[in-house]
Amino acid sequence: MLKKEEKLSASLPNTPMMRQYLEAKARHPDAILFFRMGDFFEMFADDAVTASKALGLTLTSRNRSAPDEVSMCGVPVHTVQTYINKMVELGFKVSVCNQTEDPQSAKGLVRREVVRVVTPGLNCDADAVQPRENNFLMGIVPEGELFGAAWLDITTGELWVEEFGDRERMRDTLLSLAPGELLLPEGEEGESWETRMKALRPDAAVSHLPEWCFELDTARKTLCEFFHCSSLDSFGCSSLLRAVRAAGGVIRYLLDTQRDSMSHVRPPRVVQSDEFMLLDEVTRRNLELTTASSGKRRGSLLGVLDRAETAMGGRLLARWLNYPLRDVGEIGKRHAAVEELVQKSDLRGELRQALAPVADLERLNGRIAMGSASPRDLVALSDSLARVALAAPLLARCDAPLLQELAAQTDPLEDVRSSIAGCLVEQPPLTMKEGGLVREGVSEELDELRSVSHDGKGWIGRLEQSERERTGIPTLKIRYNKVFGYFIEVSKSYVAQVPEDFHRKQTISNGERYITPALKEYEEKVLRADERIIQLEYEIFQDLRSRVAEQGERLQKTAAALAAVDVLAALAEVAQERDYVRPQVDDGDAITIRDGRHPVVEALNSDERFVPNDVELNGSDSQILLITGPNMAGKSTYMRQVALIVLLAQAGSFVPASKAHIGVVDRIFTRVGASDNLARGQSTFMVEMIETAHILHYATPKSLVVLDEIGRGTSTFDGLSIAWAVAEYLHNTPGKTARTLFATHYHELAELADTLPRIKNFNIAVREWNEQVVFLRRIVPGSASHSYGIQVARLAGLPGEVIARAREVLEQLESAPPDREKAAGEQERGRKSRKTRAGSVQLDLFGPPEEEDQLRVMLKKVDISMITPLEALNFLDRLKKLV
Ligand code: ADP
Ligand code: MG
Repeated sequence: MLKKEEKLSASLPNTPMMRQYLEAKARHPDAILFFRMGDFFEMFADDAVTASKALGLTLTSRNRSAPDEVSMCGVPVHTVQTYINKMVELGFKVSVCNQTEDPQSAKGLVRREVVRVVTPGLNCDADAVQPRENNFLMGIVPEGELFGAAWLDITTGELWVEEFGDRERMRDTLLSLAPGELLLPEGEEGESWETRMKALRPDAAVSHLPEWCFELDTARKTLCEFFHCSSLDSFGCSSLLRAVRAAGGVIRYLLDTQRDSMSHVRPPRVVQSDEFMLLDEVTRRNLELTTASSGKRRGSLLGVLDRAETAMGGRLLARWLNYPLRDVGEIGKRHAAVEELVQKSDLRGELRQALAPVADLERLNGRIAMGSASPRDLVALSDSLARVALAAPLLARCDAPLLQELAAQTDPLEDVRSSIAGCLVEQPPLTMKEGGLVREGVSEELDELRSVSHDGKGWIGRLEQSERERTGIPTLKIRYNKVFGYFIEVSKSYVAQVPEDFHRKQTISNGERYITPALKEYEEKVLRADERIIQLEYEIFQDLRSRVAEQGERLQKTAAALAAVDVLAALAEVAQERDYVRPQVDDGDAITIRDGRHPVVEALNSDERFVPNDVELNGSDSQILLITGPNMAGKSTYMRQVALIVLLAQAGSFVPASKAHIGVVDRIFTRVGASDNLARGQSTFMVEMIETAHILHYATPKSLVVLDEIGRGTSTFDGLSIAWAVAEYLHNTPGKTARTLFATHYHELAELADTLPRIKNFNIAVREWNEQVVFLRRIVPGSASHSYGIQVARLAGLPGEVIARAREVLEQLESAPPDREKAAGEQERGRKSRKTRAGSVQLDLFGPPEEEDQLRVMLKKVDISMITPLEALNFLDRLKKLV
């Protein structure tokens, strides 16, 4: 409750309370301060202006007339969390300054303290985080082109660190983890790397700590103190200096902003990038791994695969897809586990049934450690542990080594379960203010108080009866309110019958209220007992909670094991439902897939039966597959399906195919030609070229490269030349010979296969029927002979007269004398027109009647000042072939 003096002083700057306010504000100047005053949290001055706009609150001001008027706005205490979450979601930080002593007993000004700072990267409120997603705070330390990063999910206590040898990898990690908040060392304003980082994650909040917090010695000390250890060796990160610095900063920030215990935060785990298949951000987006292009989960690979029963499993599955493995042994272990769960489908069913009601143990554990878990949370934990006890023996029946390992790590924490179940009632009330959480028999004192309270209430019931009899007033009632406590209420018509010993307390519209000494005496006893009961129950609960918190490490381990079991069972579920097979994975260079399907298109596109296709890639004769075919034939789908099958295999999943053999891939790169990707609105051709440069720079013979119509963002000649040169480079440059799928609408590229031994031509078959094009969706050897642009346009619903006119124009173009455009244009079309117009005297570049004349004509026609070097080479090549 608010003291009167305070109400007054709030209106006046430079009062003791204002000083208290300013002091709290100074501790976290960049946060909006929610300042507790009685039943409200108030914001003042600029904070009030900002918050009123952000939250739609009415801005008021104390002391309107005074020159130093202070704007303010406020929110009620009981709904404050909603407002905090909203501010934080908008990217603000909120510091919460609460009353830390009872205003009733305070002498003078009530003591207030900042109890926590809620930031976008450190919000523990269950309503503010997505169940199946992590929310990270990420610290980044730059050192020239090198970076160290550490990211923490405060709700689960996971802390990861990684070092990056280049900016791109840092960038990709940043984009794939999408942290809610970045923590950076203070530096000169406007440092370019920082500006770029911020531009990458415009949604993330950015916070700074002084540079010294990230200094190596300080960071080491912070970490050692926080994790109670004398060196960082045991975490395997002591030599990763930049990662240690980043982690030190993150922990420093945690300590600065949180006052609760953080015992659930685990020592840093090192991400070793050579253990995982690397996926850059563009690739993750092109393959729609965790979100579809719509930005939603539905339509993504994760959307199809996430059959996990628990939120923990959902988060882990996302991690497995973001970090596919490279170690053949580890991959095989996952496959063996999935295989067993596919085969033992009854066991899997039981296991999933046991896991289904298991709560989010990782986040529960976090709340328990931070002291914010409610009685219902603890009961949820104990109920979940009972389910774990059901799952454990099922797991123990499995043979796959990974499942056995996970079984060994699954600890049903029977001691914890029984101490919770023995202490708390099955369905405790939502709040702790009413008591009623602790079972009978837990505390003798509590039981005694309860019987006093209970008997007291019974006594009052009996008193009401006897007073009615004594006074002869049948409507006499004993009632209770907060102001008077217990009182006797008598309606107007009986007031005359009231005895002497009733003391009148209050007159109401239809009667009078009285108290008696006996009533007050009992009231004392009952109310005091009730108060004490609530307090005692709270103490018992807190004690229980801290005893459970001591078992946090065991709980975390079990939670991690269950999450993995859940993911493996989910993968098995999908595998069985969608008829996936176990892929063979080895360290060879072949990728052989029989009857492969696109996991998402197959699941979501119900209009058309999905047509399976094979692929054969290897380092000896099929390194680069050039794929031609008209628009809409299925080129993009086919190439993505190959990439997704590889990725699924290395993530540990079965794959949509009848047979698959995967030589481990170190990196998948995918690039989509600009016009397929206009939505991004950048200078698309430039982006496309930057991305292509990136591939050429980083690809290795173990990589898988998917190039989808690159070169499209520029003129035909430039585009063709670039595509040509890229294919040659990937084929000819030692150390860069990545397995490549290359879709192109430049049919000329098909000629590459004539001279480069490891390039193979494929096309996606279509059939022409009644001037219509029918997509067969089948990949077949050889290059496409036709682009069917007009047929596709017709399919797309272009008006009949436009289609007809297009045909006319096409015919004219095909019969027109060759010019430069023609020469490098549709060669296939040229071939075709040659056939159909047999006997025509017109000479075109590709089909004059006599060899002699042809050479002469070709040479005459070529305008050396107009052609590019590449065209000149091609031209020369053609001349040679003619001879
Ligand atoms: P392209 O890249 O050749 O223009 P897309 O890969 O975008 O063609 O495919 C066009 C459409 O065909 C997509 O909507 C897709 O759903 C469908 N499709 C592609 N491949 C298959 C297939 N194998 N079976 C069934 N439908 C397919
Ligand atoms: Mg395409």
